[in-house]
Amino acid sequence: MTATNLPGQPHIAYQGNTLCMEGVALPDVAAQFGTPVFAYSKASMLSALAAYQRGFAGRKVQICYAMKANANLAVLQIFAKAGCGFDIVSAGELARVLAAGGQPEKIIFSGVGKTRAEMKQALELGIGCFNVESEAELEVLNDVAVSLQKKAPVSLRVNPNVDPKTHPYISTGLKGNKFGVAHERALQIYQRAAALPGLAVVGIDCHIGSQITEATPYLDAMDRVLDLVTDIEAAGIPIHHIDFGGGLGINYNGDTPPAADQLWQQLFAKLDARGFGDRQFMIEPGRSLVGNAGVCLSEVVFMKPGEQKNFCIIDAAMNDLPRPAMYQAFHQILPVTPREGQSTVVDVVGPVCESGDWIGRDRELNVQAGDTLAVLSAGAYCMSMSSNYNTRGRAAEVLIDGTHVHLIRERETAADTFKGEHLV
Ligand SMILES: *Cc1c(COP(=O)(O)O)cnc(C)c1O
Repeated sequence: MTATNLPGQPHIAYQGNTLCMEGVALPDVAAQFGTPVFAYSKASMLSALAAYQRGFAGRKVQICYAMKANANLAVLQIFAKAGCGFDIVSAGELARVLAAGGQPEKIIFSGVGKTRAEMKQALELGIGCFNVESEAELEVLNDVAVSLQKKAPVSLRVNPNVDPKTHPYISTGLKGNKFGVAHERALQIYQRAAALPGLAVVGIDCHIGSQITEATPYLDAMDRVLDLVTDIEAAGIPIHHIDFGGGLGINYNGDTPPAADQLWQQLFAKLDARGFGDRQFMIEPGRSLVGNAGVCLSEVVFMKPGEQKNFCIIDAAMNDLPRPAMYQAFHQILPVTPREGQSTVVDVVGPVCESGDWIGRDRELNVQAGDTLAVLSAGAYCMSMSSNYNTRGRAAEVLIDGTHVHLIRERETAADTFKGEHLV
């Protein structure tokens, strides 16, 4: 049998006429677990992590997986076992890390709206760092820490005001964004933080956006952050770690982001040149660790030819795969068992009652009702953003490891979706 590899998808390939992930035929996964179902390749996640680790060889770097990209417990377990910490944004994520066996001291807590209750919980557990995003948050965190007679380890998320050249909804480091504190005010806020009794300044962080496909925004942000570190330390406040956030893009549709190891070679060249090479660093990658490790398998329910458009209606929808509706995002869509013959141009859509419920537009496909399609690059920001809209139970998730298929999340039943609701 001949294998046909797909660009950017080292662990997904056609073996003959069957789309496979690692050593497993994807049609068998659909048959066994039903559709829609997400399948993730463990080898793909670990090789994405290994690319970062190669780039960091001989350096002091803690990789904190940004778990909002894909928060399944088994996925977290893989990264925890591989030595990763976690970047969290809620008490719910904190509970997940603990349930998956992650270590509290390797947790960093990001987000613009941490509540007192969340701060208290994280402080009592002894997390590694709070990435503080505003002056108001700094004061409240100090309050909470003082009341617990603890010192909260803090880093300020600074907004370097660089354009990551990505979709506006996923650019986060520009002046008009809600994230972080302004570069111009950062030194003053550090001085305030250093004076507060409940806080211990440990670091500085930035995160400029997501699906970044060029090195330049990172290099620019790094310069801006290093300038600040210099100023803050000159003011007598030592910065123990520098956290450059996440954001590295993946290949969805011919995108060519730098490989993690090559990007970090470039970034370390700058760090070395500026005399920061031997510092403690942190990074918070999400999408680039899991995005291309996942596919969503979905069955074609009906073909609906029309005068202006032909629709291919599948059993996955915007509640399972929200990225096209949210950001006009592109996912490759492939038949798991291609047919011979002519393809037609179709819009692949879900059954949800919204015109925004499309998964792919103007795709050349040769499919019939009952066929199974694979929506690629579905490992990040799909299941973790899914909802029960239209009272659709969330899909099942499986982890593929060589020839083994582990069910890592059961399909939600209708009863699951209204659990906790009460008749009056
Ligand atoms: C979302 C997020 C990340 C991860 O972003 P990716 O683009 O998935 O790598 C990292 N840090 C923070 C603060 C985030 O909000």
